[in-house]
Amino acid sequence: MQFDLGPDPRTDILRRLQAALIVAFGRIVRPADKRRSPEWVLVHGVIGAQTKTAASNASTEGLLAEYGSWEAVAATPVAELEAQLQRQTFPSVAAKRLKDCLGTIIAARGSVDLRHLSNLPTDEAMVWLEALPGVARKNSAGVMNASTFARKAMVIDGHHRRIMQRMGVVPAKADTARTYDALMPIVPPEWSAADMDEHHLLLKKLGQTHCRPRKPLCEGCPARRDCETGAVTS
Ligand code: SF4
Repeated sequence: MQFDLGPDPRTDILRRLQAALIVAFGRIVRPADKRRSPEWVLVHGVIGAQTKTAASNASTEGLLAEYGSWEAVAATPVAELEAQLQRQTFPSVAAKRLKDCLGTIIAARGSVDLRHLSNLPTDEAMVWLEALPGVARKNSAGVMNASTFARKAMVIDGHHRRIMQRMGVVPAKADTARTYDALMPIVPPEWSAADMDEHHLLLKKLGQTHCRPRKPLCEGCPARRDCETGAVTS
């Protein structure tokens, strides 16, 4: 026999958190015409380990400007890609991952074209993406949510994961995939894909300002009302 336990209280925590962050930081909305193609977002993630977003943006744009297509990028020697990716924190790793990833897509699809994913449920599309070299949950969710696909999938970076852990919304040692699996069922059902994108961008802002990696600045933090860590720090 199963008991109906009612709505998960963490759903209301996410609602209150979103409202508090908008009051604190204002709206952070990605305009629809600023959404990139799924292929662009995928490349951005594959080369982006430990690199600031602005640098990865410039590198991704630079690759397209230099070679004209992702197929031409895939045909470029790794050493040349590495030279093109000097803005990245780990250019040699980024170059190798990019070459392997694009080559795998071409072997499977004939070109670097992810349009077939639009016919799949989000979970299945993410499984397909995560089978590619260099693609993990953050990137697969990014392709689904932050690209022109605009699907309901929560993008989780280090800031987002740390804040959810400190607040007690997800287990303390949850990795990105486990955090995603814990959060997706409790996301307010009325949230659109754009709301989820904004939630992620707001949490990133919170992680840069208050909930910093080494020492959280709980005093004045807009999330403190619902935060397990904030409740016991002075
Ligand atoms: S109250 Fe403190 S621990 Fe909680 S989210 Fe804010 S800064 Fe982080």
